[in-house]
Amino acid sequence: MQACAFDAYLTQITQLTRAQCARVFASLKPAVDRGHSAAVIEEAVAARLCCPRCQGKQLYRHGIKSGLQRFRCRACGRTFNSLTGTPLARLRYKDKWLAFSDCMLDSRTVRKAAARLAVAKNTSLRWRHRFLALAKTDRPACLQGIAEADETFLLESQKGARGLTRPARKRAGKASKPGISTEQVCILVARDRSGNTVDFVTGRGPVTVAQLKTHLQPVLAADALLVTDANKAYQAFARQQGISHRCVNISAGERVSGAVHVQNVNGYHSRFHMWLKRFNGVATRYLSNYLGWRWAIDQERIRTRETLLRAAIGVFNT
Ligand SMILES: [Zn+2]
Repeated sequence: MQACAFDAYLTQITQLTRAQCARVFASLKPAVDRGHSAAVIEEAVAARLCCPRCQGKQLYRHGIKSGLQRFRCRACGRTFNSLTGTPLARLRYKDKWLAFSDCMLDSRTVRKAAARLAVAKNTSLRWRHRFLALAKTDRPACLQGIAEADETFLLESQKGARGLTRPARKRAGKASKPGISTEQVCILVARDRSGNTVDFVTGRGPVTVAQLKTHLQPVLAADALLVTDANKAYQAFARQQGISHRCVNISAGERVSGAVHVQNVNGYHSRFHMWLKRFNGVATRYLSNYLGWRWAIDQERIRTRETLLRAAIGVFNT
């Protein structure tokens, strides 16, 4: 709209009835919300914006589409916007993304988030995993000082899969064998005393020395002290890799020996399990997304809807 026409339009607004004001407000809200989402996204990527094909930095503005500025690369001609190449590219209803971030921060179920935003349940589920795909990668590079490590287990679940690769369980949600077996998926969590936490879905059954080497070794500082329970795999791993290691023999009734305990990591496990209950079982193939979600909200690490939206496109610490 031309500027003078817009000014004339604005003067008429003062003459609207209260009911008409409410209607104007309601019809503007999606555009305002969409603009807010777009502004958060464009500001987050502005400093690193470049052509996704040739990484060119010389860009022309190429119109605005779906609320986002499009760019055209001067070198190769490719057009793109700030979401190209991110998990949120081509998702619809940008006006609802920040409200969806709130639903994630509140740990709402798929059904409750869908009802709140008036979108389909499938949309709510798709958005959940699109938002988490990059958000879950925001992890500390290294654990320092005393690093507690311990495993926790969840029953393997093929929830949502089209065909089961094993017979259905006779007692839903229960393993047929007692104790840890290949029916259980192992989650390895390591946490240092400043709260930095990493986790890995290592696969079915108990954790192995090779898995500890693959996952733990790269994230432990050279002078870190690894603290675990008496599981022999940790002892062998620490010996092989020359890592300082202490263990508490929990099965013998020992819980704490000075600073040597795994209570922080076990606390993290129990918060994860308690939180997970609301979802009534999660598919194993999505487990790392749920672990990333838990890490994002644990002890309010991510507090605002905007921070979560930025994390969903892989922009952290801003
Ligand atoms: Zn290019």
